[in-house]
Amino acid sequence: MLSIKNLHASIEGNEILRGINLEVKAGEVHAIMGPNGSGKSTLASVLAGREEYEVTEGEVTFKEKNLLDLAPEDRAREGVFLAFQYPVEIPGVSSTNFLRTAVNQVREYRGLEPLDAVKFLTLMKEKMKLVEIDQKLLSRSLNEGFSGGEKKRNEIFQMAMLEPTLSILDETDSGLDIDALRIVSNGVNQLKSDKNATIVVTHYQRLLDYIVPDYVHVLYKGRIVKSGTKELAMELEEKGYDWIKEEIDSQA
Ligand code: ADP
Ligand code: MG
Ligand code: MG
Repeated sequence: MLSIKNLHASIEGNEILRGINLEVKAGEVHAIMGPNGSGKSTLASVLAGREEYEVTEGEVTFKEKNLLDLAPEDRAREGVFLAFQYPVEIPGVSSTNFLRTAVNQVREYRGLEPLDAVKFLTLMKEKMKLVEIDQKLLSRSLNEGFSGGEKKRNEIFQMAMLEPTLSILDETDSGLDIDALRIVSNGVNQLKSDKNATIVVTHYQRLLDYIVPDYVHVLYKGRIVKSGTKELAMELEEKGYDWIKEEIDSQA
């Protein structure tokens, strides 16, 4: 589904990604972990197509298309979901209206009929149950005043509605309390199928107490320096990242 080969990317002339290789197949959940500043968010941003980052080398193929050639909106329409690509807060717009537009854009791109109000509501109810989101949250204007947990819930709900082929979740280190962790994990676990894949970017081993990844990769200094299964995450939980840093730095 996704194939990343020798990806190098820079920001303001500084090389941050220094040769990433990663293969993701349908049905898989991959966790990208690593110490702060190793390039995890940069990788997510490059896959999202954020313009600040310059890809200097390598290729990214998504369902046989060159992902790097696609505009961010087209990546989304192709079925790539990046949580932070969709605004969670828009003053004066309810998430329902916003989502209906987004869902119908994706459907149009996939050659499907747009959903009318009734069908959209039916789909919403089904997905609300799936990710355990409250109706009240959705009818609220997408405005300031969402708690961290509510934002996460909304994000996961957007993901459920858009039915992406590949979801990339960058769980930044700040503000993820246990509730938010559980919401994200439940969502990922509920939405997992043999047709889609998820990449969860996280600094926290704790998230993986809830999400069971098929593969765990450690990013350090812009490269994937170790890959394994959930046992690797458990080892990191126990030993931290220092042993990996030492191992890699001593080879350099
Ligand atoms: P992580 O998500 O693993 O903590 P990031 O991808 O956020 O790491 O950052 C990787 C490196 O890139 C860090 O050294 C950071 O300082 C640098 N970096 C990130 N964004 C910028 C930027 N806009 N300008 C300059 N350097 C940046
Ligand atoms: Mg960071
Ligand atoms: Mg980060």
